[in-house]
Amino acid sequence: MAVLEKLVIANRGEIALRILRACHTMGIKTVAVHSTVDRNLKHVALADEAVCIGPAPGTDSYLNIPAIIAATEVTDSVAVHPGYGFLAENADFAERVEQSGFIFVGPRPETIRLMGDKVSAITAMREAGVPCVPGSDGALSDDLAENQAIARRIGYPVIIKAAAGGGGRGMRVVHTEAHLSNALQLTQREAQTIFGDGTIYMEKFLTSPRHVEVQVMADQHGNAVHIGERDCSTQRRHQKVIEEAPAPGITPQQRAEIGGVCVEACKRIGYRGAGTFEFLFDSGNFYFIEMNTRIQVEHPVSERITGVDLIKEQIRVAAGEKLSYTQDDIVIRGHAIECRINAEDPETFMPCPGTISRFHAPGGPGIRVDSHIYDGYTVPPHYDSMIGKLIAYGEDRESAIARMRMALDETVLEGIKTNIPLHKWLLRDPGFIEGGFNIHYLEKRLKARASD
Ligand code: ADP
Repeated sequence: MAVLEKLVIANRGEIALRILRACHTMGIKTVAVHSTVDRNLKHVALADEAVCIGPAPGTDSYLNIPAIIAATEVTDSVAVHPGYGFLAENADFAERVEQSGFIFVGPRPETIRLMGDKVSAITAMREAGVPCVPGSDGALSDDLAENQAIARRIGYPVIIKAAAGGGGRGMRVVHTEAHLSNALQLTQREAQTIFGDGTIYMEKFLTSPRHVEVQVMADQHGNAVHIGERDCSTQRRHQKVIEEAPAPGITPQQRAEIGGVCVEACKRIGYRGAGTFEFLFDSGNFYFIEMNTRIQVEHPVSERITGVDLIKEQIRVAAGEKLSYTQDDIVIRGHAIECRINAEDPETFMPCPGTISRFHAPGGPGIRVDSHIYDGYTVPPHYDSMIGKLIAYGEDRESAIARMRMALDETVLEGIKTNIPLHKWLLRDPGFIEGGFNIHYLEKRLKARASD
């Protein structure tokens, strides 16, 4: 028997399709909730039922809590999967879902709230023994002299960050004391405007770290495991472009150590479901920056090297089942790389919505395509520009790269501009091929390319 009867997919695009695929293999019926422009999405056609929840703008549809709750009620569903983005890390939504008598596929609302505020998250993680970036002890006050003293203690450069920040926004690097006062005010104002919360904090700005994150999964019976790490250092404007697992150069001992710390922290805070501990990795040390209390875009690379179906496991543990794996069952084999395919200009990075006139997906051994696009599909301008992900697996990094190059070359995608040319260029870049570079690498290469 299926662990659940019917589940609402409160998302769109590739992740909605990914959730639907997991549900249908588990014998769970699905309900697609969608906006008016998304009637022609692939998962809407494949779902057992579909409910239109509002007009195109996200605030009127995918962020419309009452409409989603109502759709869950009228379809007699028992659970809601939020995917990533939209309401995935909205504690009020999780609470409303539970108060309405449904299962929220994710952590408890209070955990989402705790980790959603970066200041309270860092405090909780420090207490749980997770290594954090040296920084202010909690939120900053308005006292400039006090803040100057904190910055001096940490040592310049420092980074001022919004407690409620996300999506790479609400951060400012300060190199000297002369610029501190202005940066504090600007970041605070920006945080208030963008996130509705002006709380800010300070961290040491690590000048050349890598972004390495640890995937965890926990059930409601006190069990937790880590599913290895991912390297997401290929970033532009603090946004991930390519992700891979395992992280180049991380030893099995380092993996076990940092993974063990994350597992202990999960147990301590009563974590439930899938989660990611994000770290900056510098000179052999891990520094916690934030936790994402949801499934991530880049989850397929971890799935590929461990054989774990993270979405299926998320749904199983949400339904109250015990984890189907112990730590010893999680064995890493080979290497996986993911390229995020965006509908955007590869030179200017401007979004390029429009109609796809021709699409041929790549294939062959080790290639996975997570995408909702098809011939004639129109990418609407209202949402994130990501239209899919290409995942390549190989017995080692070199063969994963070779397969990814082939997959990119094989892909035919006409009618709109995409960042595929950028990926083709990067996958042949000597520094990328070597691996283990820091988070500034891509921007540095783009700058060099522009001045060529
Ligand atoms: P967001 O929630 O907006 O994604 P994060 O705190 O996860 O913000 O940081 C996003 C990115 O910003 C990191 O991957 C890294 O590139 C950069 N960053 C954040 N904190 C620091 C720091 N203390 N030192 C250097 N870079 C940082």
